Amino acid sequence: MMSRSFQRLAMAGVLASAGLVLVTGPAEAGNKPAKTVPVRLLSLNDFHGHLEPPTGSSGRMVDETGATVYAGGAAYIAAHMEQLTDKNTIKVAQGDLIGATPLISAAFHDEPSVEFLGKIGVTTSAVGNHEFDEGYAELRRIMKGGCHPVDGCSPAGTWKGAEYDYIGANVILKRSGAGAEKDALAALGRNSSSLRSLLRQYGVPALPPVSIRWMNGVPIGFIGLVTKTTPNIVTAEGIKDLEFVDEVKAANVASRLLKLVGVKAQVVLVHEGDQVTAGQSPDACSAQPGAGNRIATQVDAEIDMILSGHSHQAYLCTVTDPKGGKRLYSQGGSFGRVITKVDFRVDTRTRDVVRSSVVADNQVVTQTITPNEDIATFVQTWKDRVATVANKPIGKITADITNTAAPSGESPLGNLIADGQLAAARTGGNAQIALMNPGGVRASLTYPSSPAGEGDGVVTYGEAFTVQPFNNLLQVVTLTGAQLKTVLEQQFPGGPNNQAFTKILQPSSNLTYSYSTSAAWGSKVSDIKIDGVAVTDTQTIRVAANNFLVGGGDAFAAFTQGTDVWSGPLDIDAFAAYFAANPVIAPPTPDHITVLP
Ligand SMILES: [Zn+2]
Repeated sequence: MMSRSFQRLAMAGVLASAGLVLVTGPAEAGNKPAKTVPVRLLSLNDFHGHLEPPTGSSGRMVDETGATVYAGGAAYIAAHMEQLTDKNTIKVAQGDLIGATPLISAAFHDEPSVEFLGKIGVTTSAVGNHEFDEGYAELRRIMKGGCHPVDGCSPAGTWKGAEYDYIGANVILKRSGAGAEKDALAALGRNSSSLRSLLRQYGVPALPPVSIRWMNGVPIGFIGLVTKTTPNIVTAEGIKDLEFVDEVKAANVASRLLKLVGVKAQVVLVHEGDQVTAGQSPDACSAQPGAGNRIATQVDAEIDMILSGHSHQAYLCTVTDPKGGKRLYSQGGSFGRVITKVDFRVDTRTRDVVRSSVVADNQVVTQTITPNEDIATFVQTWKDRVATVANKPIGKITADITNTAAPSGESPLGNLIADGQLAAARTGGNAQIALMNPGGVRASLTYPSSPAGEGDGVVTYGEAFTVQPFNNLLQVVTLTGAQLKTVLEQQFPGGPNNQAFTKILQPSSNLTYSYSTSAAWGSKVSDIKIDGVAVTDTQTIRVAANNFLVGGGDAFAAFTQGTDVWSGPLDIDAFAAYFAANPVIAPPTPDHITVLP
């Protein structure tokens, strides 16, 4: 995949440079009116495998009129795409298309989702952090094809590979030195001093940094970027060979690379974004300037627009580039609920985007049009394939068990999952307590919501999977009492681990402690007890957690000091096993943490 894209890039370079020689002479700069050609981009972000329409609040969207409507679903996305496609259209995406997906996609390592996106004509996507959920090697398999090394081929047969390019200019291999540079130049198929100097600044790309698509005789260059915080939010082991460098720095090098090969219409596809005011129109801006805005305003002025993702918000903003020009900064919500349409014209002489011609519109993927029949059949096929697994009842609940946090930060469902992890890791791993990251509790268990509508508290495997979709491994490590206290301090911002905001780990029921909201970082947590017995600094404690946390995820750096790692079952299997052992479960009371002033 890498070399294919690089060859495409090198070829585009040859063609584009030839073009430049012909069109930029001073004689041409005279009185002729500029000729422009139209280009339309249709883009998706954060699809997260929602082949079926997303449910609950994830399936609703505020439209341009302020009404809340149901949105999303592959067959509807395909139908809207068809309506919006004209002969000038290029379809792109901004990452998190896969990873943290519903069972219909996840059970088959997301191959159904990637196939769907190819079917609707997506040509290029930035990688998102979730594209790395199963590691870099698995991402490359998704890109280039082949069967899963452990689970084998899906019922559809040998995986053929993604029909679109995954690009990521700020994802760099940790290798360096002359050998690495030689390999990169060989992959590029060119060797020039300018390329060599670019690569020296750049390192060796782990993915194609850019993708070039021709439309109406002009090349459009796409630069892929993913949040540089990726190492904090995906499992460390799968990305141990990679470095995620600053998005702006990488974009500027990629922009120069594109310019070097004559591509001046440049679009950044970035998996990083900002927050908006709840309930606003998808076409409004009001993005509170954050990590996405920083990239959108700071990347090279040669870049004409920034299509973003990651924060699952819909917005259309106009931002100012470093030279004072105006450019688009957009995002289209998540789960396939919005398609961002961008129309613009490219000057055929300068080959650059006419900025004043850029018109963007966020189109809500409503379910009031006729769904695309082929895609509906495609989704049904996978639904049938996964049904036996998904509809299997695993237990019962007596009432809703929600992931809504109490004032302390713990939630009933967080407690339940931690209790399940402790139970699964007690025997093999000698676990004494369990801690679960709150972001990994993805949905609530609701009493009447089983797909068949039983209304009798039945929990199916499919529902449990919606709560725990990451296929993380349950692990156990030994921490000292002092290290456990540091882990709990690292829940709060202000420490050297740079926690961005308070993240309360969900405790198993036998772990209790207090924290002070006013105390300084390092002295917030007190009175830690396990089974009612006070924890000392020097005692050792076997702590169960998923491999994401054990790898230091979510800025819980102290977990990486853990020793004697034991690996147990998948988190979803531990959760299902807990239901098997406790067939009727009442919501736990989230009262293990005491908040002090
Ligand atoms: Zn993301």
